[in-house]
Amino acid sequence: MIEKPGITVKKAENFSEWYSQVCLEQGAHLADIRYGVQGFIVIRPYGFHILRKIYELFEEAVEADCHEPMLFPSVIPEENLQKEKEHAGFVPEVFWITEAGSTKLERRIALRPTGETAIYPLYSLWLRSYKDLPLKHYQSRITVFRNEMTTRPFLRGREFSFFETHDAFQTHDEAIIQIKTDLTIMKDVIENKLMIPFYFFKRPQWDRFKGADDTYVSDTLLPDGKRLQISSTHDLGTRFAHAYDIKFKDTDSEEKYVYQTCFGPGIVRIIAALISIHGDDTGLVLPSIVAPITVVIVPILFTDKPEKNKLVTDFCKKLEKKIKEFGYTVRFDDTEQSPGFKFNQGELVGIPLRLEVGPKEVDSNTVTLVRRTARLKTKVELTKLADELRNQLTLLDGEIKAKATAYFKDNTKNAAVMEDLVSVIENHRGFVKVPFCSVTIEGEKCADEIKKLTTAIVCGTSYGNDEKVPRGTKCIACGKGAKHIVYVAKTY
Ligand SMILES: [Zn+2]
Repeated sequence: MIEKPGITVKKAENFSEWYSQVCLEQGAHLADIRYGVQGFIVIRPYGFHILRKIYELFEEAVEADCHEPMLFPSVIPEENLQKEKEHAGFVPEVFWITEAGSTKLERRIALRPTGETAIYPLYSLWLRSYKDLPLKHYQSRITVFRNEMTTRPFLRGREFSFFETHDAFQTHDEAIIQIKTDLTIMKDVIENKLMIPFYFFKRPQWDRFKGADDTYVSDTLLPDGKRLQISSTHDLGTRFAHAYDIKFKDTDSEEKYVYQTCFGPGIVRIIAALISIHGDDTGLVLPSIVAPITVVIVPILFTDKPEKNKLVTDFCKKLEKKIKEFGYTVRFDDTEQSPGFKFNQGELVGIPLRLEVGPKEVDSNTVTLVRRTARLKTKVELTKLADELRNQLTLLDGEIKAKATAYFKDNTKNAAVMEDLVSVIENHRGFVKVPFCSVTIEGEKCADEIKKLTTAIVCGTSYGNDEKVPRGTKCIACGKGAKHIVYVAKTY
């Protein structure tokens, strides 16, 4: 007998330990941190199935928005990385290749920390005329490398899974439309399919991506009340076009610089959000669309009734075949473990539905169905199984979404004066909406003041959801007239 699997801490009491247990060998075997090179982790099969599904969702979404796939090398010539001066902010985090075999390279080569400086020198060769625009390409299922000092499975690592679109347009208006489309894609994939609520912020000017005019992000909230950024779209303006000489001949025969945007959903951080937000004290809880296994069948056998056991096993095998025909992934758990152990195991890894089959079910041509989120037993006649599975998965997804949305709403609060902000951040964390003077560089002093008093940061203004500031409202930090409502939170 294997020891009873399971999580030994409560999520609400020790989130950090709970998270590690769920990810690693004590839990759902999503990742392994024992690879032997600090900061590099292994994604195990169960985690990989989830990762691949998330990639598929984004690939479908951006291709529906007319993006074409491409694949660049993972190395960047040093001169290209250095060319965009502002962008060279990444340089302290870059891993360098300096030798090949026993030969020292004449020029060292960078392992890409992100795509822009790899891709745009080629865009400069590819783009000639307005007829080549808009150009909408993406790279998927790649990794990038950054010399991060701390590592946590899916939250921070030195090599991590990456997805990026890189678009070029004739006008800035088209770039803005693309940013709105990126928001729609995030809503569709993250909120409607993965049930993760988020805010779409325009970051304040002091916190934009180096090399962008503006940065737009999706921030969600983890159970410890800290925000986690799960996507970014950069409005690059013509900055990179100037640095890499990306020009086109316009309809008026003038040579012009292109306007660019790039969109990157943080694939591994989305997995971290899925685990953290939906999981419970028993283990993973997964929305039906990403669950690697949708249904587990557990036979209930009796040592004193071998002839009945054969009937139960045969019934389960037929059931397994039937469920596969319905189009679901299914596991028939015919291992030697006890039913209780198998129930725990199925719940630990977040399998949405469990079917229990014993002699009673065989005799009545039924199954006993248990949903991961509600844990109530329902008798289902085999003739109605297809409809009931679909119905139960809809209920499960609805319950996951309702719980996540309620947490998100309950943890967005308001504060009008600094004293209240300090108290909310100290006692509740979460997002706090506060009046603020300016999101241009002049406002940075006030953001620093907030950070000093609360250790929380100004995340930005809610984009596409213009929040009016009543006349006479004062900035929470400096007391001057407030022009914006900004969201403040502690951060990962
Ligand atoms: Zn201020």
